[in-house]
Parts: sequence; structure tokens; C-alpha cells
Amino acid sequence: MYPIVPFFAKFCHLQCHILQTFNYSEQLQRLFGYSSFRANQEAIVQAILAGRDVFAVMPTGGGKSLCYQLPASLMDGTCLVVSPLISLMKDQVDAANAFGMKAGLLNSTLSSSEQHEVLARLQEGFYDLLYLSPERLALPGFLERMKRAPLSFVAVDEAHCISEWGHDFRPDYLALSSLRLALPGVPLTAFTATATKRVEEDIVRRLALNKPLMTRASFDRPNLFYQVQLREQVNSQIEALVAAHPDEAGIVYRLSRADVEKTAAWLRDRGVKALPYHAGLDSQTRSRNQEAFNRDEVQVVVATVAFGMGIDKSNVRFVIHGDLPKNMESYYQETGRAGRDGEPALCLLLYGRGDYFRLRKFIDQLAGEEERQAGLAQLGRMMDFAEKPVCRRRAVLHYFEEEYAPDNCGACDICKHGVESVDATTEAQMIMSAIYRTGQRFGTGHIVDIVYGAKTARIIALGHDQLKTYGVGRDRGKRFWRQLVEAMLGEGLLVSEGEPFPLLHITAQGEEVLFGRAQYVTHRMLEANVSGAISAELSYDASLFAILRQLRREMAEREGVPPYVLFSDKSLHQMCSFFPQTPEALLVINGVGQMKLERYGKPFLEAITAYLVDNPEIIPPQMVKGEELPEPARRVRKSGGTETLAETLRLAKAGLNVEAIAAQRELKPSTIAAHLGELLQQGHTLDIDQYVDREVRSAITDLFKAHGLFRLRPIVEAMEGRAGYEEAHIVRGFLVSQGWKIEGNE
Ligand code: ADP
Ligand code: ZN
Repeated sequence: MYPIVPFFAKFCHLQCHILQTFNYSEQLQRLFGYSSFRANQEAIVQAILAGRDVFAVMPTGGGKSLCYQLPASLMDGTCLVVSPLISLMKDQVDAANAFGMKAGLLNSTLSSSEQHEVLARLQEGFYDLLYLSPERLALPGFLERMKRAPLSFVAVDEAHCISEWGHDFRPDYLALSSLRLALPGVPLTAFTATATKRVEEDIVRRLALNKPLMTRASFDRPNLFYQVQLREQVNSQIEALVAAHPDEAGIVYRLSRADVEKTAAWLRDRGVKALPYHAGLDSQTRSRNQEAFNRDEVQVVVATVAFGMGIDKSNVRFVIHGDLPKNMESYYQETGRAGRDGEPALCLLLYGRGDYFRLRKFIDQLAGEEERQAGLAQLGRMMDFAEKPVCRRRAVLHYFEEEYAPDNCGACDICKHGVESVDATTEAQMIMSAIYRTGQRFGTGHIVDIVYGAKTARIIALGHDQLKTYGVGRDRGKRFWRQLVEAMLGEGLLVSEGEPFPLLHITAQGEEVLFGRAQYVTHRMLEANVSGAISAELSYDASLFAILRQLRREMAEREGVPPYVLFSDKSLHQMCSFFPQTPEALLVINGVGQMKLERYGKPFLEAITAYLVDNPEIIPPQMVKGEELPEPARRVRKSGGTETLAETLRLAKAGLNVEAIAAQRELKPSTIAAHLGELLQQGHTLDIDQYVDREVRSAITDLFKAHGLFRLRPIVEAMEGRAGYEEAHIVRGFLVSQGWKIEGNE
């Protein structure tokens, strides 16, 4: 924003003075469009502006980039940002430029003449930010050259990569140890999302930070909802969650490549746009798939844990673990990719005891005994997390040695739905009796079959249908018994041992219950309705959201940047709650600063205004710059149904027509038609003929051809009563699903 022009260089002291007094809070609003700092950001910004070294730990999504971008925009000279992933650099630069900063990059993807140009501009003081890889710093002569460049400070991102104790050590990072000596007058700042005490000391020592401001933000991610469910039909469980969030992006983690492929195929067969990502794919396919996800072209990526380092997408609304992660650190990092924009997001872990054995295999392959022991202990903690009826948030934070004070976090399955204590002594005795009578030589499946009274060939062959316990639990259903065995394993009444077919054994604690000397009270998690979890927290106009999202995607495509670089999901959600129609009102929206307003605002304002014309029942609130956000828009309608697309989709798939769905949901038919239009746009298959008769459809199609897809009103008017907004919505959705584009009339 404030490049040094060489001519003015000699007046630098004067300019510095002016800049220092410039209010950085104002810059926060003007440049980034945020009304306040997050935890620790302000202290870090102040320290950097005062020329101090900084060491900052912040969880993923905590807002590290702002900490160096904001001072970089105010200070003389260029901030060098060292960043490990070349694949991410361009997106980072695009994002900074979208805010109106002058950012560039220097890495091996540039031709040598481009590199020369970048270096020349650096020398002129053109950039606020210059991103480069650690390898670049290590090149002979590079640091020497930097001595002559006008630098404000250096920011080392992902600083834990410098430590061999970290989980992601990169030898290239060792080159950063020369920074201090080579550039003695340039302040150094280091940022990381993971650092134990040991790693922390290592970073400070290796970078030779000088009396740095040390900050550590809480690892709490209040917008993440944590949930654990017993794994039953893994793919159906995953699909249920994905289907409940048709317009939201998510990551599904699976342990093996084969499972990644299976789950991805399962989702695709059911009409979900999903792509796989694992180390077995060639690197081109991998980066193509990652790119498609980044750019909102596919809804879901199904991946092994290899996925994620290279992803900066802020609008991931759910992360599902189809298998248990190997430790809490991984779980935290992987779930951490959800909700980086601060909007609610869901983290679902599907858990089965079998995971233990599969993960054991990896641990057994570790080289040293010490590592194996550590691995096992870590796995034990992960299992505790999944099984113990303790607030998930408290458990996660406890792992990072952080105390979580509130009794109820309000955003995990345990806190939200509660735990039910039930006396299951009799039922536990039935299970153990079956185990006992068969000599403790069978696994869960067979034992459950006995208690449930299944007629399998194995049961008959072994004569187990003659046992006294055979069929005593017929009235409860197999699922109940499987869950009970899981609970008994978790609570130590049973152990499951042996490979590859683990057998159930009764422990001493189990015998106490079996012989009636102790009671067994189990803590059953009350079943939470997973699908409701995200959208219940977000109330915005889903139909407008789909329109704005499409607009964002198309504008981003034209600019060659990922969609979230234009506006975050959070910004769009707010637009769909407050319906800003003027530039001043748009500036009130989170994440909309002056530059974004100027560059991208107009088409969005037009789309919102057009939408309000099409939906006169919406009454948008007044928005005043500098004031808090008002109450969300009101909608004048007689009854209040919840406006989720997912429910409309479900009813449409069940064969109901527009009127029937509207009646059932107590919504207006036009709203349902709008939903169907959005669903079609999102790629769901619906039978168009059922909703709009062919002749009308072809007339509407011709009109869209002439007028473009952007507005409905001209179409409806031209139809002169032969069709209304309902048909127009549905046909437009259909045309988009056929590859037509909605263009803003710029
Ligand atoms: P990190 O690098 O720590 O994972 P980012 O720097 O990508 O996180 O920031 C995460 C998200 O939070 C981004 O969408 C960013 O725009 C947003 N953000 C950062 N600081 C603020 C703030 N003070 N107010 C609102 N949003 C913020
Ligand atoms: Zn909780």
C-alpha cells in the first residue's frame, strides 16, 4: 500500500513517523474489512510495528497471516514471507492482492526473466509482501542480495518445520538459521500452529530470535462442533451427512487408499460430486483433484491423511473421519481444516473398535521400541477420546495442556445431547454368558449372533443354537448388542485379543458383573441428529447463497483465483442474512474492505437487489457503517418452516410435487421452486418434466437464451402469465445443470 518511492527515500524518517501514527485498527477495517482483532493478533501487530521479534503459536484458522500482513501494509519496505509449500504460494499471493496489498512471489515456478523482474521490483520497494520458499534463501548469494533490499521484516510461516522435534521437519528450513547473521537489522517473526515446549525452544534458538514477544493463543476452535458416532455402515453414514449439506464443502478422511476409492465411488454413485486423493494417484491427478476442491467445483474430497498440507480453503464446512486417526495431534490438525473462516463447521468421527488393530499394525512397524511404546500410548489417548463420555472440546484441549473451564461447551455431542446412564447389568450378563459358555473362543459377530438368535450356518454347525443364551436377546436388535459389546470393551468388562480374528475375553472386572457381585451402568451417548448440526446454527437465505456462490465461482474463474479469495463463506452468509444493497451497507459485512468493495462489490450488490425484487416478502434491515450488525432480515410469511434445501430434496426425491412439498413444509410454493432450482444447479438430478411441462420449458429456455440467466423478472414478464417465478426458477436450475452460465450484467 505504501511503497517507498526511491525519490522519497531520504525523507524516510518523516514518512515513518506519519505511518506510525496511522491507526492500525483503521487499517484492519479498511484493508481487511474486519471490525476487531482476534486473540493475540493486536499484540503481535503492535510488536512488529515496534520492530520487535515475535514468536507466535496460533491454531489453524486463528488468523496468522493477518499478523504479518497488516504491519507489512503499514511499514516501509517489503516483508519477506517464508512459506514451505510452493503450491500454496500463488493462492496466498492472490488472497493478499485481493485485499489490495502489493504481494509477489519468488520460486522455481517462475522463469528466470520473471525472477529478475521480481527482484528488481523488490529493490524498488514495490512490494508489501514477497513470498518465497526456504530453498530460495539457501541459494548462494541470495541473502547477500537481500542485504541491499529494503526489507521491513521477515515472517517465517509454519516455523515448526525448522525443528527435528516437530512433526513436519524440513531440512530446507535449516537454511533459515543464517537469517539473523546475514540480516542483523531486520526483525524476525515466526508463526506456527503446532509447537510443544521443546519445539518452541528449538525454533527460538535456531532462528536466534532476540527477546521475542512470545504468544500462544488458545487451541480452542469454538466454531467446530465435535461429534463421535459408532461406525456401522460407514459409507451410508458418510453419505447421510453429505446429503444433509448439499451446498457445503467437506473432507472425508479414510485410513487406506482402497477405502478412499470405495467411499468416493459410493458418493459419486449417489450423485455427490466427490473426488479421491491419496498417494497412489499420480501427482498430476492429485493436484487436479485438490484444485477442483479448492475452487468449489466438487463438493467433497475423500482422502488419506496425506491430504491437507496443501490446502488453504477456508470454507470447509465438515470433516468426517471414517476411521480413527492415529493420535490426537492428527485428529486436531485434520479437523482443524474445517471452519477456518470462523463459521460453524462439523467434525464427525466414526469409530469402531476394529480401528485399534488396524492402527496397531502401523505402530508395530515402527523401528524403535521407545517409538512403539509412545505410539501405543498416543493411540490409547485417541481411543479414550472416542469412548469416554467427556466433553470432546475439553478432551482435545487437555491434550494441549490447556484447561477448559466451562462445564458445557455447547458444541459437542456430549454437551449438547447429554449422556444417559443406564443399568445394563442383565444385558451384559447375557453377552458374557454367551462368551463364557463358548469357551471365550469367538469374536463379537458370532457372540452377538448367539444372543440375538441368528440362524447362521456357523451357529448351526457348532450347535450354538442349543445354548441356554441362544436368542435371549431377540427383542433388542443386533445393533443394540453390537453397541453394548463396544461399550463393555470400552469400559473394561471385556477385552478383544488376537489377530487377525480378535476373540472376546471376560476380564476380572467383567466377572464381577457376570456373577452378580457388581452392577454394570453404561454411559450411553444420546444419539445426536448429526445432519442438523451445522445448518441449525447458520440461518441465511439458502437460495440467495446459491446464487452468490455461483457468481463468486464465475468471477473467480475469470480472475484465475480460488473463489474464497473474492469473499469468504462468512461474508456470503452475512450478505444472505442482511441483504446489503448499497456500497456502504456492503462494507459492514465481515471481510469486505475498501478494495474488495471496489473490485468485486458491484455484481454482488446487483444480484442481491435483483433477488429482493424477485422475493418481495423479504424485508432487509438498515445497515449503518461503523455500527454493529443489525438483526437479520425478516421474511414476511404466515408460518415458519425451516428453510433447508436438504429437506426439500428429500421430499422431492420421495416424489412429491411443488405444491405438496410446500404444504408439508408450510412454505410458499415459490420458495420450494427456488429450492429445486438451486438443487438442480448443485448437480442433483430431479425429473424436470415432473415440474414444468415441456412446452413451457422450451418457451422459458428461449427467453433465457435471449435475456441471460441472471434475472428472472424479465422472463416471467415476457411469459405473460403462462408461467411464474416457480417455473423460471426450476428451468434456470435445469439449464445451469446443463452447463449454462449465470452471468452478472456488468
Ligand atoms: P491461519 O493461517 O492461522 O490458519 P488464516 O490467516 O488463513 O489462518 O485466517 C483464517 C481466517 O480467519 C481467514 O479467513 C481470515 O480472513 C480470517 N480472519 C483473520 N483475522 C480475522 C479477524 N480479526 N476478524 C475476522 N476474521 C479474521
Ligand atoms: Zn463439550
